[in-house]
Amino acid sequence: MLANIVGKKVFPGDILCAIEEFLPGDGVYVDNGYIRAARFGIVEIDFTSRRIHVKPLGKKPRLPGKGSVVYGVVTGVPREELAFVKIFADERMVPFNGFFSGVLHISQASDSPGQHSIYDFVKPGDFVRATIVSPSAPYLLSIRRPQDGVILAYCSVCGAPLYKVPGSPYLVCKRCGNKEKRKVAIHYLLEERRKR
Ligand SMILES: [Zn+2]
Repeated sequence: MLANIVGKKVFPGDILCAIEEFLPGDGVYVDNGYIRAARFGIVEIDFTSRRIHVKPLGKKPRLPGKGSVVYGVVTGVPREELAFVKIFADERMVPFNGFFSGVLHISQASDSPGQHSIYDFVKPGDFVRATIVSPSAPYLLSIRRPQDGVILAYCSVCGAPLYKVPGSPYLVCKRCGNKEKRKVAIHYLLEERRKR
């Protein structure tokens, strides 16, 4: 019985044990002689205090690893072919405990050769979806895949959010009409409706 419940994913209302077995801890409630889960999470038992807890999922410190998809914001361009990215969330958009530093080199920005400036792909302030290509920190990022790239960018002229235009390689500003180039992810957040 105990082996079955420890480490199990539970939903709010699920019965964990009888009140005689353990003391209620975090994320649980007592109902009609039973201790039940008060939230979605993982069951943990502290055998020293004899308390049963439900720990929320996604709250433990996690480190991104090679091949994992992350979200970040471009913080700077120290060299023409390099951008710094502040990584803040995992593939499910769940924030990490803290931030991680990422580096995007122009060779990992696109499959097409002959580009000279990282500004053709990302600009400071852009939100990006990227894949980690190094085994550990510093995290080297790639946005070459169609799913990766800029997911939200702002106008360099007026600061308004930029919109993706179907069939166009440019992002456009609805406020001032400015057009800007990026390596846009397929799921860019804002899309201009095509007028028919
Ligand atoms: Zn603008």
